[in-house]
Amino acid sequence: MNEAIERAADILVSRRYVVCLTGAGMSVESGIRPFRGPGGIWTEHGEPPLDDYGRFVDDPAGYWRNLIEPSGLYRDLYLALQAARPHQGHLALADLERRGVVRHVITQNIDDLHRQAGNVNVAEIHGNYTLCRCVVCGTRIGRQDVDTSSLPPRCAECFGVMKSDVVVFGEPIPQDVGSICAEQTDMADCMILVGTSAYVYPAAGFPRRVKEQSGVLIEIGPHLTDISGMCDHVVRGTAAEALPLLNDAVASRLDRRE
Ligand SMILES: [Zn+2]
Repeated sequence: MNEAIERAADILVSRRYVVCLTGAGMSVESGIRPFRGPGGIWTEHGEPPLDDYGRFVDDPAGYWRNLIEPSGLYRDLYLALQAARPHQGHLALADLERRGVVRHVITQNIDDLHRQAGNVNVAEIHGNYTLCRCVVCGTRIGRQDVDTSSLPPRCAECFGVMKSDVVVFGEPIPQDVGSICAEQTDMADCMILVGTSAYVYPAAGFPRRVKEQSGVLIEIGPHLTDISGMCDHVVRGTAAEALPLLNDAVASRLDRRE
């Protein structure tokens, strides 16, 4: 792996604008199971109903009762999210942002771990489980700060119905996040893919767009994925193994420049 890390570090320091796209594989080492693939939650339990958003729209109070007192699988998921802490790979990625090497993180994860690790520029495509969002104006507030004395809770700005910021099946990606992802992808001349096969849209479109702009793709992950063939450079290792080594290799190059 070391040679692949050194080469990846050479690429990163030579690029103008690096964006990192992360998926479920990023968080596995923090104890959060992926949804798809081996060991995946949907693989074990079957795909959830695809009309979750329609059910929220039809009965927002019922949606909130389930959110406040989740049962079964959803309770397990919530407890796992609450127990999860950033691992060394998350911390290394935050360090790469502080160094000005990684400009933005786009993540498919809802677990808040990039922010907890210290990343500031984070676009959460599928939302963040610690937040709630108004479906009308998009205002977000902390889940703890939502007044649930009458259901569904309403937005303090516009009186729209609030829901969890987590994007459910059938729900459109929030416009503000979608715009940030498009802007960042348009600017990127390099994209690091960590723990994602970029299989699910819209994330699947981002690396393809970077390639169209003659950008460079670096994949970090333990296994061959659907997108490996498109990548210019591959580091075979987990996020918690590879990202700290990559951060060190980048740091030594930046030190030499000074
Ligand atoms: Zn609102």
